Amino acid sequence: MNILVVNAGSSSLKYQVINIETEECLISGGVDCIGLAESKISHSVIKTNVEYSEKFKFNNHTEALKIVFDLLVDAKYGVFKSISEIDAVGHRVLHTGEDFTGSVVINAETLAIMEKNIPLGPLHMPANLDSVKSCASLLPGVPMVAVFDTAFHMTMPKHAYMYAIPYEDYKQYKVRRYGFHGTSHKYVTGVACELMGTKNCKIINCHLGNGSSISAVADGKCQDTSMGLTPLEGLVMGTRSGDIDPACLEVLMDKKGMNIHEMLDYLNKKSGFLGISGVSSDARSVQQAAEAGNERAELVLAMAAYRVKKYIGSYTAALGGVDCIVFTGGIGENSADTRERILKDLTYLGIDMDWDLNEKCPRKQNVELTKPNSKVKVFVIPTNEELVIARETRDLI
Ligand code: AMP
Repeated sequence: MNILVVNAGSSSLKYQVINIETEECLISGGVDCIGLAESKISHSVIKTNVEYSEKFKFNNHTEALKIVFDLLVDAKYGVFKSISEIDAVGHRVLHTGEDFTGSVVINAETLAIMEKNIPLGPLHMPANLDSVKSCASLLPGVPMVAVFDTAFHMTMPKHAYMYAIPYEDYKQYKVRRYGFHGTSHKYVTGVACELMGTKNCKIINCHLGNGSSISAVADGKCQDTSMGLTPLEGLVMGTRSGDIDPACLEVLMDKKGMNIHEMLDYLNKKSGFLGISGVSSDARSVQQAAEAGNERAELVLAMAAYRVKKYIGSYTAALGGVDCIVFTGGIGENSADTRERILKDLTYLGIDMDWDLNEKCPRKQNVELTKPNSKVKVFVIPTNEELVIARETRDLI
C-alpha cells in the first residue's frame, strides 16, 4: 500500500510517498514560497538518489500539487506508472480544537468541523484544508486521513491545559493549552517505550528545532506540554520568544507604537535566537558565532538551555519522577553542545552521562547517551513525523 503524506504550511508543502508494508520512503520532496514571485520545488527519488529541482510560480497549493503528481508518474523522477497507485493520502492538519482526540478519516462531516476550527490556526489551517480539497479533486475516490499536530496532547488533564482566565471565556472561546509537534512527540514516545522495554514509564521529550517544545508523558500518554494555544509559548526558539510576562506586551506596544498584530509578529518572528543574538535564527550559525566570541550568541544559547532545564525540572515534579529524557529535532538530534548545556548539572536527577558518546553521537539512529547503570536514561531519537502520519492513515482506512 502506497501512502502519500502531505504536510502543507502557510506557504510551503512537504510530501513523501511511503510504502507502508515496508515503511520505506520512496519519494521525498518539498515546495517553498507558494504564492510568492518564485516558488522552488525539490524532489528526490530515495532508492536511485535521483534529484529534481526547479523554479516555478505557484499561486496556490493546488498548482504545486499538480506538478507533484506529474513528477510521481514521470519516467525519470517518478515511482508510479499511474497516479491510481496512490492508495491513500495522509494530511498533517494543525488543530483538533476540542473536537477530535485522534486522527480521523476525512469526509464532509469531519471537514466541516476542521473548517470551523480555522480561527485556532489562521495561518496553517487554510493551507492544510486547501491541500485536502486539492487532493480530493486530483485523486477522486482515494481515501484521506487527517493527522493532527495537537492530537497527541489531548490526553492532558484539565488542570494542565487550563489557563487561569475567567472560566466562561475558556468555555466560549476554547482558549486553553493545546500543544503542537504532536506527531513528533508521539513518534519518539513510541520508540522510547520500545527502548525502555515498557510503556509503563515516565518520559520527558525535548523536541528542539527551529520550533521547540517539550512534553511530559506517563504510560505513553501526554500529561503536559510547553506550547499553548499557539506555538508561541514555552521554550526559546529560532524566532519565537517562548514564555514571557504578558505585561511586557503593554510596555513594548506603548514604547514602540505597535498594535497587537505587530506585537505578535515581533514575538513570533523577531525574537528568540534571532532577536537576542542578532546573528541568525539558525542554531548552528548562532553556535558558530558563540564559538567565535559573540557574547549575545553565547547568551541566547545559555538562555535556551536554561529554559529547557527548568521545564525538565518542573515536568519531573509534575510526573512524580522521570525514567528517560529524549532529545529530537534538528538541534536535539545534532547539537552535542546543546545537550551538554542542558544535562550537565542534572546528575542529581540520577543521570550518568557518557559525555564522550554525547560528543560523538552517530547521526540518524537511536542512541542511548547514558551509562548502563544510569538511573535515568537519556536517548537521542531521530523523529519521523511522516511515518506517524502514514501509519495512522493505514490504521484508519
Ligand atoms: P528542525 O526545525 O527540526 O529542522 O531543526 C532546525 C534547527 O536545527 C536549525 O536551527 C539548525 O541550525 C539546527 N541544527 C541542525 N544541525 C545542527 C547541528 N549539527 N548543530 C547545531 N544545530 C543544528
